[in-house]
Amino acid sequence: MATVKDFSVEEKLTAVLSLQKIDSKIDDIRTLKGELPMEVKDLEDEIEGLQTRINNIDTEINNINAFIETKTEAKKEAAALIKKYEKQQDNVKNNREFEAITKEMEMQELEVRLNEKHIKDATYEQKDRMNARIKTEEKIATVEETLKVKRSELEKISADTEKEEQQLTVKSEAAKEKVDPRLLTAYERIRTSYRNGLAVVPILRDSCGGCFNVIPPQRQSEIRQHKKIIVCEHCGRILVDSDLNDKVNAASK
Ligand SMILES: [Zn+2]
Repeated sequence: MATVKDFSVEEKLTAVLSLQKIDSKIDDIRTLKGELPMEVKDLEDEIEGLQTRINNIDTEINNINAFIETKTEAKKEAAALIKKYEKQQDNVKNNREFEAITKEMEMQELEVRLNEKHIKDATYEQKDRMNARIKTEEKIATVEETLKVKRSELEKISADTEKEEQQLTVKSEAAKEKVDPRLLTAYERIRTSYRNGLAVVPILRDSCGGCFNVIPPQRQSEIRQHKKIIVCEHCGRILVDSDLNDKVNAASK
């Protein structure tokens, strides 16, 4: 069995062109799906972020609740002390004792008011957090709605094309094995550097099928001779003549 290295230039070109045609078909399917896979991923990430926000808000609400509980308890204690002092005032023996108790009562009244203020502020904060929670939940619902639409769009396209894409991927792998390793490396490098994924292009109307720069007649005839692999001097893509291009079909193995 011949190794890859024994193949003629024409066979090498045919092999890499076959691979290009298969890969271009895969590209077409991916173009059809467009930005959908990325959009779906972005929306999923957004929902995850919003869920985290809700969890954080819940922690804040719990902390505020605990704070209110503590302040309510402190207020109760101060109020109880005031009641106790009121009783003591009825049984004082002298003015000095009365004044001392009055001072204590005033301090506890201050304590009650201070706690009331804390509770009021915290209740306001609590409402604010509750509103933020509701808004975040509404946002999640909106994003989920969009995600549902995008997902079903993607699923529909995937269902239509999945089998074809799988078959083409298998074909692409098989075609790769037939390509000269050095040529394959060049092919893959060129392919990834262009958005349209074209690394092997035919001559179209005397021009490079990739960058559309004119190819001189002398060079065109060299390309037709299949004696060496020729790349476009402008874009670096591998060039083939239109006859070879027409002969090689992605559908055939
Ligand atoms: Zn070119």
